[in-house]
Amino acid sequence: SGPTITIGEILVEIMAVEKGHGFREPLALIGPYPSGAPAIFIDQCARAGGSAGIIACVGDDDFGRVNTDRLLRDGVDVSAIAVDPAYPTGSAFVRYRPDGSRDFVYNIGKSAAARLELTASARALISRAGHLHIMGTAFAIPVVADMLDEALATVRSNGGSVSVDPNMRKELLQHGQTAERFARAIDNADLLLPSGEELYLAAGVEGSEEAAVEALFARGVAEIALKRGERGASYYSAAGVRCESAGFAVAELDPTGAGDCFGGAFVACRRLGMGPQDALDYANAAGARNVTVRGPMEGAGTIAELDLFKRSTGRRP
Ligand code: ADP
Repeated sequence: SGPTITIGEILVEIMAVEKGHGFREPLALIGPYPSGAPAIFIDQCARAGGSAGIIACVGDDDFGRVNTDRLLRDGVDVSAIAVDPAYPTGSAFVRYRPDGSRDFVYNIGKSAAARLELTASARALISRAGHLHIMGTAFAIPVVADMLDEALATVRSNGGSVSVDPNMRKELLQHGQTAERFARAIDNADLLLPSGEELYLAAGVEGSEEAAVEALFARGVAEIALKRGERGASYYSAAGVRCESAGFAVAELDPTGAGDCFGGAFVACRRLGMGPQDALDYANAAGARNVTVRGPMEGAGTIAELDLFKRSTGRRP
């Protein structure tokens, strides 16, 4: 079956070296780092050995090339990354506050990422795809949401599978068709990759974790890999399998991208034929390894790097 594909924003991240508040005085920055949730996901997927491709749009500038070169180097099919010479590649400036929260300056809305469209190359990649990964954030952008609907229908009718990272906030579900589209994606997902509270948003059920999981299985979801931050991750299947992977004891330097690395590794490992426990361990390792490195996708690892990480890192009790 064909590659794992995803659709969405590519941008660079530029980080403040020192923690603090905002960007109102001159300060030391480090970057540009390749970024964008779909880009991080697909990079980790390819690094873990999965066949992978992305549909995206960048500007004709170094911020775009930093991304395309990285993805190409790591084995991602970049044939469906369009270059729009009229718009710059998006950027996000990030500064961690001492309490772990973040201040951002975004230049994405008027960047090449907002010029995404289904080009002939994008349609060709969709028609070859064996698996579509959907980022919840995409539903807030109507043009991207339309493209996802089309990709979903094509991948499904070709017999492919679908995963969804709900990556959704309650407030976003209040806008227009967002809730309806989000629900449709969940109904079409084989695999869900929620983080913490997103499980309940996706299920539309409050209460116990078991109740939310059962509600999702009743809607046709077959597998759920639940991300628990520093506490690791859990797995549930409609077939009754349940696995745990305890958190790795790491010093968190930059949490951005952990969930996307987790997802990329999990999807790649499952599609390469690994069982749920092994895939969950690799995904947990991929997320944990990524938080130890500055830059959203700098810590994405190959299977060999993740094996080394697993052997050399203890778990939290
Ligand atoms: P998201 O980034 O989607 O909010 P999480 O914060 O739950 O998701 O992180 C995703 C995964 O990355 C976790 O399930 C875990 O495997 C790993 N991870 C994230 N933060 C840490 C941490 N501080 N220590 C160890 N593992 C972590």
